[in-house]
Amino acid sequence: MNDANFYAGGTFDRAAPRRKDAAWVAGLIEAAESRFVATWRGRSLVLAGNDATPRAAYLGRDQIGAIPCEPVLLGIVEERAVFAVDVSACDAPLEALANGVALEFTDLRRVGPLLPRQEGALLAYARGIAYWHERHRYCGVCGAPTRSEEGGHVRRCTDAACGTTHFPRTDPAVIMLVHDGERCLLGRKPEWPKGMHSTLAGFVEPGESLEEAVAREVFEETGIRVADVTYHSSQPWPFPASLMLGFHARALSTAITVDPEELEHAAWYERRYMLEHEDDDTLRLPRRDSIARRLVEDWLRRPR
Ligand SMILES: [Zn+2]
Repeated sequence: MNDANFYAGGTFDRAAPRRKDAAWVAGLIEAAESRFVATWRGRSLVLAGNDATPRAAYLGRDQIGAIPCEPVLLGIVEERAVFAVDVSACDAPLEALANGVALEFTDLRRVGPLLPRQEGALLAYARGIAYWHERHRYCGVCGAPTRSEEGGHVRRCTDAACGTTHFPRTDPAVIMLVHDGERCLLGRKPEWPKGMHSTLAGFVEPGESLEEAVAREVFEETGIRVADVTYHSSQPWPFPASLMLGFHARALSTAITVDPEELEHAAWYERRYMLEHEDDDTLRLPRRDSIARRLVEDWLRRPR
């Protein structure tokens, strides 16, 4: 059993110290054994026609040769370098990549729960870093173009007088299962699939601790005060740029006042009811690859 949340738990070496060596990285980009995972406009490349057992598509250097891109070194996997390449500049990348193997670009969330953990982790990493590069082509300090360095883990401003280095960013978001003992608090947003309810969540603000963010978000969305905020686990969530930090928290009050800007509905659900309930249009649990699902499942099955 893998205890890591989906999109975490990869067993590769990120090679952080070595990727500062530009010659080493350049050699790996040209090495015949290196592999490339491609993203295109937010979608991830997988082998086509395997909906039940999806697999990442690992390309060779010759297959991406004609497409303009800046490879990002994800790490070393079983002694091979694996790079991410964003081929969004190409209008018809599948034609350029075609090599007799059927490939497709897909939303990682569609295949994520079914991918081998290592592949899910690599594709999530590739998606997240491609998104960061796409939005940091220009220096936020002086506006000059930036260039990729250190295997794609830094962008440096090309204006010599500025020279600011920019590092990949991840936005911390708290996500919390609030309970009052035998009941948990779930809410839903209007755009979600019918009946789907989930844990509350929100972004951490500057100058705020994680525990404060949990308490603030729960109060803003439902009017409930919480205590005993305890960390559970975390999950990379590059849709587009989050790190989900999961918590359990105990409610100090039970009267719900929903913020209609945030939620369509929120309610208390009995543990016993949820354990017997099958997903339907009145109550459907969140996606299997989400930490929200893990927070709910672990609370439901936690020994009392
Ligand atoms: Zn600059």
